[in-house]
Amino acid sequence: MSKQEVEVKSPNAQAHNEQNAQSLLPTYARFPLAIVKGKGSWLWDDQGRKYLDFMSGIAVTNLGHVPEKVKEAVVKQIDELWHISNLFQIPNQEEAGKLITDNSGGDAVFFCNSGAEANEAAIKLARRYQQLVKQNGRYEIITFEQSFHGRTLATLTATGQDKVKEGFAPLPGGFKTVKYNDFDVLKAAISDHTAAIMLETVQGEGGIYPASQSYLKQVADLCKQEGILLIIDEIQTGIGRTGKLFAHEHYGIEPDIFTLAKGLGSGFPVGAMVAKEELRAGFSAGSHGSTFGGTPLAAAAVKATLEIIVADNLWERAAKQGAYLVEQLRENLAGNAFVEEVRGLGLLIGIACKGPVADIIVKAQQEGLLIISAGPNVLRLLPNLLVTNEEIEIAVSILAKLLAEAAE
Ligand SMILES: *Cc1c(COP(=O)(O)O)cnc(C)c1O
Repeated sequence: MSKQEVEVKSPNAQAHNEQNAQSLLPTYARFPLAIVKGKGSWLWDDQGRKYLDFMSGIAVTNLGHVPEKVKEAVVKQIDELWHISNLFQIPNQEEAGKLITDNSGGDAVFFCNSGAEANEAAIKLARRYQQLVKQNGRYEIITFEQSFHGRTLATLTATGQDKVKEGFAPLPGGFKTVKYNDFDVLKAAISDHTAAIMLETVQGEGGIYPASQSYLKQVADLCKQEGILLIIDEIQTGIGRTGKLFAHEHYGIEPDIFTLAKGLGSGFPVGAMVAKEELRAGFSAGSHGSTFGGTPLAAAAVKATLEIIVADNLWERAAKQGAYLVEQLRENLAGNAFVEEVRGLGLLIGIACKGPVADIIVKAQQEGLLIISAGPNVLRLLPNLLVTNEEIEIAVSILAKLLAEAAE
């Protein structure tokens, strides 16, 4: 698409942004960019400038922007029915759920609208199962330093970062945060009150830290021995991003519960909690719910997204393109004094640096590349699963240039 084909909506993006920002609460430090159009790996702003998207709306648009088959499915559903209460049967929600359970170790799905809600549902199900089914009075959820689980009161309490908790006291009780990737510390923290352990297989917001193979195996075994439920937060790592459909598959473990959102609907807002058969008894009619969870529209987006990913084994493509991106980065950043290491899994990649990266993100935008950070010193790369070698090479050349400048 050329510059002329893009409708220019605002004569000045900066002025437009400042003017409209007054109508919104200041919960985001927004870049002075208004993106108005997207296709595949590419985005256009209201000035007609083109950007290569290596953040995918933070791991959301895993099939690229406006994927044709998902669009067709949603448009077809828009013509038929948008909303009907969960008090009725919703056939395509059942089919979307079956696509998840057929392709994972999970057996039953609860649909909601976001990641935080999926984790909230997981926390509620874990407690209710322990208290009403197992009758053991357990309530405590153990989570980890540098984790991220969402912004509701319960999920920000579960999050192992102080900055998201500031000013929100009193926080709900029954949460404990311990060091990640340290089995002895975790073992010492469990007690008769421990209902569940909740973790990310790769800490996304916290800085792209994968759990070690041996650690997660030990954690899964400990949970089995002690009757503790294992909850895996797959909100950022799921839907093919890390080179498996769900990242816990890399570790040969089966969580009791895992949660999804971000990539699940290709950008249509939807979340899901997936539970093992035994957990079904933890909920009954009326124990949990959501007006919008899994509406026909959301279910159409989920179904189309998962059908494409499963039909083409797109997680394999994520593994292959991720390996190429890491190889290209390591080759082009070798000897760079500002870069500490390149790490990650599949297409969830971090470039850990020796100083703050905020400036580099802004400079990359000016060069036509959109990326984000994961903590102050880590650049996070999250291209879509269909990213091409050529697009990878463009991104790497921009990053190599900016990181060379940063090293001077
Ligand atoms: C983004 C994210 C969440 C929160 O999802 P929302 O849809 O923003 O509520 C939870 N956990 C992880 C690991 C995430 O990356």
